[in-house]
Amino acid sequence: MAVLIDGKKIAAEVRGEIMAETQAFIKANGYAPGLTVIIVGENPASQVYVRNKKKACEEVGFASEVIALPESTTEEELLARIDALVHNDSVHGILVQLPLPKHISEDAVLRAIPPHKDVDAFHAENVGHIMIGDFDYLPCTPAGVMELLKHENIDPAGKECVVVGRSNIVGKPMGMLLLHANGTVTICHSRTKNLAEVTRRADILVVAVGRAGFITGDMVKEGAVVIDVGMNRNAEGKLCGDVDFASVEPKASAITPVPGGVGPMTITMLLRNTLTAAQKAAAK
Ligand code: NAP
Repeated sequence: MAVLIDGKKIAAEVRGEIMAETQAFIKANGYAPGLTVIIVGENPASQVYVRNKKKACEEVGFASEVIALPESTTEEELLARIDALVHNDSVHGILVQLPLPKHISEDAVLRAIPPHKDVDAFHAENVGHIMIGDFDYLPCTPAGVMELLKHENIDPAGKECVVVGRSNIVGKPMGMLLLHANGTVTICHSRTKNLAEVTRRADILVVAVGRAGFITGDMVKEGAVVIDVGMNRNAEGKLCGDVDFASVEPKASAITPVPGGVGPMTITMLLRNTLTAAQKAAAK
């Protein structure tokens, strides 16, 4: 039977460390790290994510603000709001919740958040730092996966690491972080041929596809570590991952559940990035 990687428990431990560091930061500087989240429109899933981010900030002692803008907000208006935050010294991190309404360019918005306040690590400059391996801010979900592996004493060095999915948010940076940790990395996508043959080579398999139950037991090597990033709703509306847990768990040596695996780590890493941004600003 596989070890169940308990993301909730590990996230609570890391948040405890962040809370202690935040208290020390407030004592030394007389103010709290500040995160501002902007949400545009009424997307219900985004509203839940934003609420959870604000709650997590408050729990560790950050000053957090949510700016909720109507769907009709123009790109110019949004960029002006971001610019005001860029020049506000009490705001250390700025996050614009994605997806944005279709009439706003995601690219223009992400470029407007300067690298030192880019706590999602989506700015091209921060992405470049991740490529080089000299980074302050890590994309939250892949960083959360690395933290889970660390806590479980799973060292990617020399291992076959297969990532399924190549998004800018998860798949690509995930591959880079595993590479920096000396894994032998393969990144798969919708054009990969004989996917099952590739995934069966994996000692560590990270799946970020966005399709419920996509990875089945026959696609996994005996003893593999399986990390399920997927967050999907099944036919009954229940949250489920990209991995068919029932058929994969008996073959895996360790596996993340959904919910309760990678999910809790993502916001935790956002907190870590915000604290880093505040610490770097204070050290200037
Ligand atoms: P995305 O941008 O839609 O990317 C999906 C990737 O899967 C693409 O690279 C795509 O390949 C690949 N893919 C699709 N069909 C495939 C197939 N048949 N075989 C192999 N690869 C295939 O999604 P994302 O933003 O990375 O998110 C992926 C999942 O993770 C979603 O369920 C999302 O909700 C979840 N997620 C969870 C968290 C968390 O905190 N737990 C955070 C972020 C995302 P192509 O590039 O060729 O199209």
